[in-house]
Amino acid sequence: MDESRSRTPHPRLVVVGSGMAATRLVEELVARGAHERMAITVLGEEDTAPYNRILLSAVLEGTHRPEALTLRTVRWYAAHGVDLRLGARVLGVDRERKDVMLVDGTLVEYDVLVLATGSIPTLPPIRGLVRREGSLHDAVHAFRSAADCRRLLAALPSSRRAVVVGGGLLGLQVARALGVRGVATEVVEGADHLLHRQIDAPAARILTRELKRLGVAVYAGARAVRLVDGPSGPAMRLDNGFTLDTDLVVLTAGGRPSTALARGAGLEVRRGIVVDDRLASVTDPSVHALGDCAEHDGRTTGHVSPAWDQAGVLAGILCAENATYDGSRVVARLRASDLHVAVLGEPAVEVAAGGEVVEIANPVAGSHRSLVVRDGRIVAATLVGDLSRVGLITQHFDRRTVLGPHEPGGLLLPERAGRAAGALLPDDAEVCACAGVTAGRIRACASLEQARETTRATTGCGGCAGTVRRLLARDEAGHPALATIQKGT
Ligand SMILES: Cc1cc2nc3c(=O)[nH]c(=O)nc-3n(C[C@H](O)[C@H](O)[C@H](O)COP(=O)(O)OP(=O)(O)OC[C@H]3O[C@@H](n4cnc5c(N)ncnc54)[C@H](O)[C@@H]3O)c2cc1C
Repeated sequence: MDESRSRTPHPRLVVVGSGMAATRLVEELVARGAHERMAITVLGEEDTAPYNRILLSAVLEGTHRPEALTLRTVRWYAAHGVDLRLGARVLGVDRERKDVMLVDGTLVEYDVLVLATGSIPTLPPIRGLVRREGSLHDAVHAFRSAADCRRLLAALPSSRRAVVVGGGLLGLQVARALGVRGVATEVVEGADHLLHRQIDAPAARILTRELKRLGVAVYAGARAVRLVDGPSGPAMRLDNGFTLDTDLVVLTAGGRPSTALARGAGLEVRRGIVVDDRLASVTDPSVHALGDCAEHDGRTTGHVSPAWDQAGVLAGILCAENATYDGSRVVARLRASDLHVAVLGEPAVEVAAGGEVVEIANPVAGSHRSLVVRDGRIVAATLVGDLSRVGLITQHFDRRTVLGPHEPGGLLLPERAGRAAGALLPDDAEVCACAGVTAGRIRACASLEQARETTRATTGCGGCAGTVRRLLARDEAGHPALATIQKGT
């Protein structure tokens, strides 16, 4: 089935993928009026309207309804003349003919192609996960898409026990969500402690204890090696001799950039699709890539804030602005009730690069906070158990503020003891790291809805929602209330 090859009056932009990066790109293009100057087509494999993937664990936990995750409705795309096609998996790209082929054989021509294909979950080497005929064992679930989330939710009523394979941020969110749903959950992590890429062993011990208090058991330093079907149902064997009886296995052992299309098209791919500072493939300037699938300056990211930064830059480039991308700083938050973790930058990398560690731990109170400081600047941080200072620390991290020798230690003190205790957040303090929104911009909004719509604050990881609400709170006379950043917001 060939679509018409006749040229439209407008240049044709085809975006493959309808995830978080693609959605932000289209929003940025629409904000620049580009939808009136180009024919934009978005081809998304999933059948759900573009949604906030990072809140899927909140749906699993039951704090958000699935509909609340929708980023933009199908109607919004139609209203802006953007041709959104859902359930449209792209099978191949022909760079000579400049078209892409959908799974049903349809060809879609482009002048400029954007690959925003995200990442795919890693299948850990566990025997028995995949049946002989190639399908996953019925008890095994991935957790990447709305469809995965629906399938897992459907399995909950008949499940009492779960094993989560992978003790990273996603694994802990899923484990906590299952625990909240009343499923006895055990986390298996092959490295010697949880969140081993982000936090050190003492901080992980505190986190492990918190999880145990919340009813989630952790097996760290143990690998899941075999899923067997026993007389009482499935059981996961670990390499330390333990066998965990279970009804569900959730795989959260990481992912890798989805690059098959780019490889097939002959584009340069290392870990991700290699792009330059204009987010163009180094092989073909008419093909761009952004988000989890892209590799810029030797790095792939796997977080939403770089994907959104890239979307803003790429929209500018496609609108002939003089924009370039020079990397992003990442702030990752654990999203789960009663578990407070924030990681800024890459602590291990910065320590290896000569950063000095300033830290305060209080295992009795369940908190561990550390900053990595280089040349007076905070270059990374990990906060476990107490996020009362995350706002100020993030502000200094983002702005690369040069601090005096005693200031990093002061920032780690609990808020009531710190110098800024009770201080009003200044207008230029960044409140939403995902969307780069300051307190002043939130204060200028009349309602949460307006703040969401005009600034996009709270629509990423949602970690800023409490602070945003307080910033918008009005006293009885209608004056803005004071807002400080509080624990766990
Ligand atoms: C459960 C979960 C929780 C997360 N939590 C956080 C968090 O708290 N903070 C954070 O920063 N990041 C988090 N992430 C990571 C974050 O979601 C990603 O970094 C972000 O979604 C990247 O956006 P993207 O558009 O590159 O990829 P995606 O959002 O994954 O979108 C890619 C889209 O492309 C589609 N696609 C792929 N191949 C094709 C094809 N051939 N044809 C058509 N469509 C195709 C896919 O189906 C998908 O819809 C989380 C991820 C998951 C899965």
